[in-house]
Amino acid sequence: MNNLRKELSKLSNLTHMNIEEAQKLVPAIKSQYVSEALFDPDAKDIDVSTLHHYYINQLRACGGKILLSQRVKKIEQIGTHYEVVCDTVRIFCNKIVNAAGAWADEIGQLAGCKKLGLKPLRRTAFSFEPDNWDYKDWPVVIDCEEEFYIKPETGSIIGSPADETEDIPRDVYAEEIDIAIGMDRITAALDFKVKSIQSSWAGLRTFTPDRNPVVGFDKKHKNFFWLAGQGGYGIQTAPYLGKLSSDLILGNTYSQTTEDSELITALSPNRFNK
Ligand SMILES: Cc1cc2nc3c(=O)[nH]c(=O)nc-3n(C[C@H](O)[C@H](O)[C@H](O)COP(=O)(O)OP(=O)(O)OC[C@H]3O[C@@H](n4cnc5c(N)ncnc54)[C@H](O)[C@@H]3O)c2cc1C
Repeated sequence: MNNLRKELSKLSNLTHMNIEEAQKLVPAIKSQYVSEALFDPDAKDIDVSTLHHYYINQLRACGGKILLSQRVKKIEQIGTHYEVVCDTVRIFCNKIVNAAGAWADEIGQLAGCKKLGLKPLRRTAFSFEPDNWDYKDWPVVIDCEEEFYIKPETGSIIGSPADETEDIPRDVYAEEIDIAIGMDRITAALDFKVKSIQSSWAGLRTFTPDRNPVVGFDKKHKNFFWLAGQGGYGIQTAPYLGKLSSDLILGNTYSQTTEDSELITALSPNRFNK
């Protein structure tokens, strides 16, 4: 155990904890379920809604427009330009950024690109309020095999079975069975008394074949930019991937570090279409 502590302290501030130490942070942890734990004191949360609204406001402030309910139905290449045909509008442009999430392969195909093999995997989440604990200062708790996680919020706890069910690009909803599996796993590890589920939802997390995001211009279609496959980390990585994408699209190389250059190669769509 001492060696493990030493190795971990080299990597980060991760702290190895025994069951008593872990229970001081999260008293609901059942002694029979957990033997040891890792605590990351540097973990931070992102206010997703605020971040999202900040980006929307920035886009509008720069003269950008968001067209809602305009499904892209056709993409035609006309000389060096594209014509993007939506439900009721047509857009002419010289570059396309494909950030269509689970639908990114479909949009790529409309533009004549080869599929990258993106897979949408369904993930379920739900909120509940346990009667028997004051959880407001607890950290996020993740099972070491990622069988579940819980995240305390104001007024409720968000839980998930951390499911990755293969799906197709579509609007998904939480299946009763996935909620039941999630609650079963959570209550096996944590002593919660839960009367009911407050709300539930599901969404698609999209993965490339190597589970790393894809960021860069298509190999054959030089003005078609892929920004997809963020898997579970789309919101946390959005500030960096957004900056990297805008540098690549605008041809700005001045702000790129050596680490950026290595990442550019690692994230390029060319790794799938050799
Ligand atoms: C339950 C759950 C929990 C998650 N938790 C986290 C988390 O804690 N942290 C985190 O960082 N990430 C999390 N994620 C992942 C995160 O939500 C995604 O990585 C992120 O939303 C991907 O963003 P995106 O813009 O690439 O795709 P999306 O958000 O899927 O956006 C794609 C958009 O393209 C549009 N579109 C598709 N086809 C067309 C078309 N033909 N015409 C016009 N528009 C089209 C869609 O309508 C959609 O609005 C979670 C996901 C789920 C499901």
